[in-house]
Amino acid sequence: MKALLPANEAARLQALHRYHILDSAAEQAYDDITKIAAYIAQTPIALISLVDRDRQWFKSRIGLETVETPRELAFCAHAIVEHDAPLIVPDALQDERFSDNPLVTGVPDIRFYLGAPLVTPDNQALGTLCVIDRVPRELNAEQVQALTALSRQVVNQLELRRQGAELQHLIEQRDGHLARLEAQQSELERANALLEEQSLTDKLTGVGNRAAFDLRLAEETLRARRHGSELSLLLIDVDYFKSFNDSFGHLAGDAALQKIAQALKGNRSGDFLARYGGEEFAVLLPATARDGACVIAERLRTAVASLELPQRRVTVSIGISTLEAADSNQQSLVAAADEALYEAKDRGRNCIVCAL
Ligand code: GH3
Ligand code: MG
Ligand code: MG
Repeated sequence: MKALLPANEAARLQALHRYHILDSAAEQAYDDITKIAAYIAQTPIALISLVDRDRQWFKSRIGLETVETPRELAFCAHAIVEHDAPLIVPDALQDERFSDNPLVTGVPDIRFYLGAPLVTPDNQALGTLCVIDRVPRELNAEQVQALTALSRQVVNQLELRRQGAELQHLIEQRDGHLARLEAQQSELERANALLEEQSLTDKLTGVGNRAAFDLRLAEETLRARRHGSELSLLLIDVDYFKSFNDSFGHLAGDAALQKIAQALKGNRSGDFLARYGGEEFAVLLPATARDGACVIAERLRTAVASLELPQRRVTVSIGISTLEAADSNQQSLVAAADEALYEAKDRGRNCIVCAL
């Protein structure tokens, strides 16, 4: 006889599927329970059976090869209908619900059956912990109680599994959030770095701009004072550049400024070149005294003068100042270089002048 469906069958199936247990691999924890159940009942067969929509599937089995059977043959399908007590069938041949069941009339020749329902905390019967014998049997009250207690342990295992999976899901969600946050953070940092770089770079020549120069000058002045080291500054102005523009156009002037900037880069890694404004450049020379600064200034002057521009040669005038005295500051360093630059212009341009 086919079992009735439990009244809440849809919710029951939903609850079962929430555990993601169907068709999972064998696990020691469940196999231990069936072993203990078989021992308590002294039966050759013990099963953890989960009643799915059309089948019963065994999470653990002792004494049976089959992994699942159709639901309509399942004793357990009867056991979950009224699930407040175990279903006990002392002799299936004497029970009209089961006497013509193929599992009784044929292999595995069920005679005795006890199924303790697996009832979840929200009162859904997922299946049973059951013990089966091939001969009619009776179990004493202690055995029935012990098997009922064990059925609760099966549910505990299932709950652990579900909570573990939920936790894992939460961890994965959190990791996903963290990864996204980190990606956003590094994207932001990259954008900031780019912005900072752009805001400190002169668009036309690609060297530092005036803001970059001011920052660097402040840094290097501090460093020089702290370490008692020297700091030199070159202010460089292109000679007669207005006439270059007037003769060859602003675009040719721009291209010339780019080439001049390249020539002024020099080859010392610690030096810092910036476009100070218009056709003026500045070079900071850390740890460089007056003599060294003059050598470098002369080298840069020559480098510009030897540039082979398509229109005509250009020259620069250079004013040099050095921060040596402990009481001098960055303003006076710039002012002194500026003064020296005027002097260089006065002297006829294409030359270098060192501030006294
Ligand atoms: P001096 O030798 O006295 O320095 O003469 P100068 O003509 O170089 O001096 P002045 O200050 O009269 O002119 C500077 C010129 O530099 C004027 C301006 O058109 C040009 N200039 C400034 N910035 C740029 C720029 O970005 N591109 C171009 N093409 N020219 C520029
Ligand atoms: Mg100028
Ligand atoms: Mg000029």
